Amino acid sequence: MSGRAAGRQAETERRAPGAENQAQKTKNQEQGARHLEHGAKHQELGAKRQERGAKDRARRAKDRTPEAEPDAELKAYFGTKLLTWFREAARDLPWRRTRDPYHIWVSEIMLQQTRVDTVIPYFLRFIERFPTIRDLAEAPEAEVLKMWEGLGYYSRARNLQAAARQVMERHGGAVPADKAAVSALKGVGPYTAGAILSIAFNRPEPAVDGNVMRVLSRFFLLEGDIAKPAVREGLEELARDLIPEGEAANFNQALMELGALVCTPRSPGCLTCPVMERCAGRLAGRAHELPVKAKAKPPKPEHRLAALIWGRGEHAGKVLVRRRPKAGLLAGMWELPHVEAPNASIWRSTDAGPDWLAGALAAEGLRVRPVRPVADAEHVFSHLHWHVKVWEADLLEGSIPALSSFAGGVFGGVREEGAVYLHDAGDDAGGDRSGGAAEIGLERDDAPSYRWVGKDEFENLAWPKMFRTLLSRFFASADAGLWTGARKRQWAGLSAGDKK
Ligand code: SF4
Repeated sequence: MSGRAAGRQAETERRAPGAENQAQKTKNQEQGARHLEHGAKHQELGAKRQERGAKDRARRAKDRTPEAEPDAELKAYFGTKLLTWFREAARDLPWRRTRDPYHIWVSEIMLQQTRVDTVIPYFLRFIERFPTIRDLAEAPEAEVLKMWEGLGYYSRARNLQAAARQVMERHGGAVPADKAAVSALKGVGPYTAGAILSIAFNRPEPAVDGNVMRVLSRFFLLEGDIAKPAVREGLEELARDLIPEGEAANFNQALMELGALVCTPRSPGCLTCPVMERCAGRLAGRAHELPVKAKAKPPKPEHRLAALIWGRGEHAGKVLVRRRPKAGLLAGMWELPHVEAPNASIWRSTDAGPDWLAGALAAEGLRVRPVRPVADAEHVFSHLHWHVKVWEADLLEGSIPALSSFAGGVFGGVREEGAVYLHDAGDDAGGDRSGGAAEIGLERDDAPSYRWVGKDEFENLAWPKMFRTLLSRFFASADAGLWTGARKRQWAGLSAGDKK
C-alpha cells in the first residue's frame, strides 16, 4: 500500500465512528419524529375520546333532567306519609310474613313482569318444594322448570337455581348481605339486589321497579324517558336519597305498594293518595302523562308449522314430542316438533304449508306426512310473536331423527304467553297413521331429544304455556275418542266456537 493510500484508509477509519454516530443520530431523529407523530396521534385520539366522553356525560346529564333534589322537609313529608299509609294499607302477602332473604329473593324474581295474584300460588308451591337454598341448588333442573311452568320467562328459573348453587359454593348457603356479593349472583340485577338488601336486611339500598319509577316521575314531575338507563340511574339516586333512616325495608315496599295499589298506570287514585297534597304531577294536572316511556318495538312475527304425531302399537295414545336444547329460547322445555315457515302465505297454504313442514322436518331426520291442520296457536315472547299452525301428521316408518343434525334456535331469556285456537276435525285426509318408532328420547345438552309421551307423563313435564294448552286439549279429545275412526267427527267442545 502506498503511503497516500494508507493515509486515506487511516482517515476513513478515523472518520468511520463519526459517520456511524451521524447515521445513528439521524435514525434516532427519525424515530423521535415517529414517536412525536404517534404521540400526537395518541393525543388526538385521547382528545377525541375526552370529547366523546364529555358529550356522553352531557347527554346522560340531559337525560336525567329535570332532576329532583328534594329538601329535607319534603323528604320527611314523603317518607312519613308513605310509611304511615303502608302500615294501614299493606297487603298481607306470603313473602311479607318473613325476613328470610331466600324467600324474599324467590318472590322478587317471580314478581318480575308477573302479577301478584299469579305469583302467590307459585311462590307457595315453590317454597314448599324447595324450602331452603340447598334444596333448590340440589334439585334437578327439570323439576325447577316444572314448578315454574306457566310463569314464563324461564331463564329466571334457571338463573335462580344457578345463583342458589353460587350461594352454596361461595357463601355457605347464606344469602350475602353485601351489595357486591349479591349483585354478583346470576340473574340478580340492580332492582333485585336492592330489594333483597333492603327488605331482608334493611340496608338503605333503592329498589326501583316500574311502580317506583311511575310514582317518583309523577310526584316529582320528572319527564325523563324511563326507558333510558341514565334516567333509571337518576331515579335510583333519588330513591336512595328518600329512604328514611332505618326504614329501608318498609319504605321501599311502601313505594312499590303505592304504585301497585294507588298510583296505578292508567287511573291513579290521587284522591286517596297519602302524598297527594304535594304531588307535583297531580298539581300540574299531568299525572296521566307520566312517566314518559318510549314505545318498545313490537315482537317480530314468525310463522311456524308444527306436527302432531300420534303413536300406534306400543305408543298408542301417545304423542311424539321433543325437548329443546339446554341453552337458548325456552331451554330444556318440551314441545311439539315445529319449524319456521318462510312466509305467511306458505304457512297459510294447505298445499305448500304441509310440504314445507314435511321437508323441513325431514332435513332434521324426522320423516312425516302432514294430514290435516288441527289447530292454530299463538305464542308471544318479548321479542317474537309465534303464529303456530299444527298439522296432524303420520310418522313414516323408519323415521328416527338424527339428533345431532338438529339446529335449535338460540335466543336470550324471554317472556312468553300462549293462546290456542283449535280447528274443527275437517275431512278425513286418509293415510296410514304409523307409529312404532322406537323410544327416541336421548338427552343431549345441545340438541332437542324426542320421546313419546302419554297423558300422565305429559302432566309431569315442563311445557311452554301454548304447548301445554294444546296438548291438554289433544289428550282430552283423544279421551273422548275423537282421534280414532274416520276422523270426521267434530271435536266436542273444541269447534270454531272455542276460538278466541
Ligand atoms: Fe300518583 Fe296521584 Fe299520588 Fe301523585 S297524587 S303520587 S299521581 S296517585
